[in-house]
Amino acid sequence: MSLHFTHDTLGQRVMLGAGRAAEHLRAEVERLGAARLMVISSERGVEQAREVAGLIDVAVHHTDVAMHVPVEVAERARDVARRHDIDLMVAVGGGSVIGLAKAVALTSGIPSIAVPTTYAGSEATNVWGLTENERKTTGTDDRVLPVTVIYDSHLTLSLPVEMSVASGLNGLAHCVDSLWAPRADPINAALATEGVRALAEGLPQIVRDPQGSDGRDGRDLALYGAYLSAVSFASAGSGLHHKLCHILGGTFNLPHAQTHAVVLPHVLAFNAPYAPAAERRLAAAFGAPSAVEGLAHLRELLDAPRSLAALGFTAEGIPTVVEQALAAVPAGNPHPVTRENLTELLRGALGAGQV
Ligand code: NAD
Repeated sequence: MSLHFTHDTLGQRVMLGAGRAAEHLRAEVERLGAARLMVISSERGVEQAREVAGLIDVAVHHTDVAMHVPVEVAERARDVARRHDIDLMVAVGGGSVIGLAKAVALTSGIPSIAVPTTYAGSEATNVWGLTENERKTTGTDDRVLPVTVIYDSHLTLSLPVEMSVASGLNGLAHCVDSLWAPRADPINAALATEGVRALAEGLPQIVRDPQGSDGRDGRDLALYGAYLSAVSFASAGSGLHHKLCHILGGTFNLPHAQTHAVVLPHVLAFNAPYAPAAERRLAAAFGAPSAVEGLAHLRELLDAPRSLAALGFTAEGIPTVVEQALAAVPAGNPHPVTRENLTELLRGALGAGQV
């Protein structure tokens, strides 16, 4: 890898402490001098959000949230923020909740604090996403980057093991794809490989002992890894893996984390032989003879999802994904893409016996 590069580092405060979210949030609200707070969560997460906000005054709790941030959901949240004269948002939840705060920040400039409860990593990127007429649009704007991220692994204890695995592999995918994405550089590669190490250590602990002390340590490691994964992704940009998953999620409405979890080993096997430096880094981070073997071993330990067919995708959708992907995959992808090899990759991800 060349040592000539330009690297942007996004500025935000990161706080991590098991069981300390409420205390950390109070300190941040005081530091920022905010007075009119809007706490955003899903209906499912509202009790948890109330606990996190237990030490501060809240102007309004907003729970009108939907996956992939439909524009009408964003408009309603903007209206609530206006009516309550909000000067700080606190988003407690997964990528869907944090995404809604970003949509409000995009048009209003109101700052936000993110309190993530999954490993999706939206909290550490300046990427926003909105859905209109079943089409997902994304963009980057520094106004949407949360000013502070508060990680508290206690908030992930309610996340089912299967969702922890899928979401953790979503984080791992940010790391892997960062090694060959358009703005890959030595700084984001260093963060990405440490992210792989942390997630590969933490996720099996969660699966082995979901609520016990081993699992709690694993949840801390997974949050730390998720943060590194998101920072490396935000800096390096979207590579082949993210382009494919964006199309599968946007056009076929497949679940975000699970789609990433299924597609990742196929993209890694596709690119690794053409990206020897990235391959060596990943192998070392996994502590395995090769990157592909390291990921395969981890996926076995996690009983990771294996088939897009199980998520509702069918072989008829493959040509559409291939057409869109050919136009979107970065020109510098290590393994040059063709209609044929992308079709083969997607057939593999679809699952055995499905094509
Ligand atoms: P999500 O926020 O939709 O959460 C998935 C499910 O898990 C939901 O049903 C949610 O209620 C539940 N859940 C979340 N936390 C929980 C907890 N602690 N306990 C129990 N259940 C819990 O999904 P996600 O995977 O976190 O995020 C996906 C969304 O985020 C997508 O829209 C994706 O595009 C976006 N995203 C954006 C970026 C970015 O940089 N902008 C990065 C990653 C993901």
